[in-house]
Amino acid sequence: MSGLTAVLASVRNRWQSISTKSVTVAKVVLENVSKIFPGGVKALDNVSLEIQDKEFLVLVGPSGCGKTTALRMIAGLEEITSGNIYIDGRRVNDVPPKDRDIAMVFQNYALYPHMTAYKNMAFGLMLRKYPKVDIDARVREAAQVLGITDEQLRRKPKELSGGQRQRIAVGRAIVRKPKAFLFDEPLSNLDAKMRVQMRAEINKLHQQLHSTMIYVTHDQVEAMTMGDRIVVMKDGVVQQVDDPILLYNQPHNLFVAGFIGSPPMNFIMGSIEQRQNALWFVEKVADGNKNVALAILIDGPQAGRVGGRIGKPVVFGLRPEDVNDRRQVANPNPGHCVSATVEVVEPMGAETYLSLKTGSHAFMARVTGHERIRVNQRLDMVFDMTKCHFFDVQTEKAIT
Ligand code: ATP
Repeated sequence: MSGLTAVLASVRNRWQSISTKSVTVAKVVLENVSKIFPGGVKALDNVSLEIQDKEFLVLVGPSGCGKTTALRMIAGLEEITSGNIYIDGRRVNDVPPKDRDIAMVFQNYALYPHMTAYKNMAFGLMLRKYPKVDIDARVREAAQVLGITDEQLRRKPKELSGGQRQRIAVGRAIVRKPKAFLFDEPLSNLDAKMRVQMRAEINKLHQQLHSTMIYVTHDQVEAMTMGDRIVVMKDGVVQQVDDPILLYNQPHNLFVAGFIGSPPMNFIMGSIEQRQNALWFVEKVADGNKNVALAILIDGPQAGRVGGRIGKPVVFGLRPEDVNDRRQVANPNPGHCVSATVEVVEPMGAETYLSLKTGSHAFMARVTGHERIRVNQRLDMVFDMTKCHFFDVQTEKAIT
């Protein structure tokens, strides 16, 4: 695969000169789009999105949240129950897929098994009756961009590896020079190493082609590393649209906070209490015969957020990397410290994941990997309260 990367790098310049001349761009707009399947499943619920020219937008969410349905509706492969879709300012609700000037790359590659890789890439252009010489030029250009060799072009899909098949599928989309590319989990059949490499290659391809790309995945790491903006979906409803860093740092609700980030954000249910003019997040839980309490001082801007919630229940959220080993924190505020027992140690190399328990509360920490930490060891941990989140128990919305 390092060969692939090298080939791609060397031919990318060549493609740039081709692509800037001939690839058009498109804005894609979804306006109050809903989809109800026969039988009553509501796959999309009033979704509105504006995907800008040349933007790389990622749709992410758990299985069944409606990502693929949204993509298929943009491609014209699925009817719209209500709402409108516009491509380049033109309403396309009733425009057949072949006239939308959009190319889709599927998870299973959807290559024709009886055709060579070359013919798979050429076939769409043949159907559109392009001159043979143009087809040949486009296929060879795309093959160069993607590091597909002449020898591979002569093979049938079953004679190619997963990564090679995926490149043929991407090549088939590129040769059409469409207004927009739609990707439906294109990397999920590849092994972990190949996924990381292809992820970077698709990113570079986007920079080179300057095309609108809409990319569906259930993998939040893929979403974070690829998207200019990310749309997080749940049950057919858009939860948040933001760039990756905003999504990570300012999740609008409990679902987004828990979905984005690995290991996921720690959540603890409790309430806000006032003690001696200071605000505390407190959780009281019966643990066997005794009541244990976790109490964390809330200060700084966070106190302003929850000042109006004294006595009320809230969900407290803190990412594992914001839970630190006290030995690595200079002058921690004792109000932010929690004494805990180490239950699981997962060394990752550069850092170590710790599963910790205090009373009946479990939480995770990501600490630097150089420290030797053992199971059952007692550790003092410091919660970085400048990074904490609070969520309303009923609405699950972030308290801002
Ligand atoms: P995955 O990641 O598993 O592919 P997804 O987010 O892409 O999931 P969709 O495939 O868009 O989800 O499906 C959304 C919902 O619509 C699901 O509940 C699914 O079962 C339902 N659904 C999808 N296609 C059909 C269909 N043809 N008929 C009925 N229900 C369908």
